[in-house]
Amino acid sequence: MDKKNILITGSSRGIGLEIAKHFASDFNVYITGRGEKRLDELCSKYGFAGYSARDLSLTDGAESLLFALNKDFDILINNAGVYFYNAIENMLPEDIVKSIVLNSLTPYELIRRTVPYMKKQKWGRIINIGSISGVMGEAYASVYSMTKASLIGLTKSLALELAQDNITVNIINPGWVDTELINNENLDENFSKDEILETIPQKRFVSPSEIASACEFLISDKAKTITGQSINICAGLSLGF
Ligand code: NAD
Repeated sequence: MDKKNILITGSSRGIGLEIAKHFASDFNVYITGRGEKRLDELCSKYGFAGYSARDLSLTDGAESLLFALNKDFDILINNAGVYFYNAIENMLPEDIVKSIVLNSLTPYELIRRTVPYMKKQKWGRIINIGSISGVMGEAYASVYSMTKASLIGLTKSLALELAQDNITVNIINPGWVDTELINNENLDENFSKDEILETIPQKRFVSPSEIASACEFLISDKAKTITGQSINICAGLSLGF
């Protein structure tokens, strides 16, 4: 049987790279990021099927990514995201726009442009990577929380719209995962890793491989009736302190 094509955005490092590695042997994995050289090296190292380097915080990013890859995708994982930690009055307009385009508009556009093929095939899997901040709200991460919450609405609406096309749409909301995203200057200035750990009920970070395993399940046949679900993988963070 032909391998299915899977597109994972933001897969040059962190959670996205771990998901890509997880699927490398059973799928044609296409990775994205911003540095061409790194993506090329990752493709050779892990046997990924292809890559495209581009800035997905530009409004034409999704269109130009799909044009460059020139493939139909059976599975789409919208993972690329950006996090700003700042008081709302100090947020820069360009960072607000960047967050909205990368975290919300690009996933929307990628889904819009990949769904026609999935519909034709009568099979598809879409997974959005949200955040606990979009489920609960996070002080000083207003635009991040806003954009991640928008993905929950998108997931639920599309799960209904595509239910009869054998396309499932789900969102995974990670809690704190120890990646470069949280080694963010703004965040670092305010909290140490130990202080973050103190706020997590299980006193541990979620690992990228735990997110990858959840993706594997959602893509599998065992999960074909799971759609429109917002799944928190957060070491208890969504429960409160
Ligand atoms: P990361 O910063 O380690 O990796 C982000 C990936 O997105 C990289 O491949 C990067 O190249 C890509 N990317 C960033 N900006 C981009 C842009 N403008 N154009 C194209 N690609 C761009 O982050 P991560 O921790 O692996 O996060 C992955 C996803 O998980 C994000 O959507 C993030 O919001 C979400 N998440 C992370 C955490 C956490 O604690 N790390 C928690 C909840 C949700």
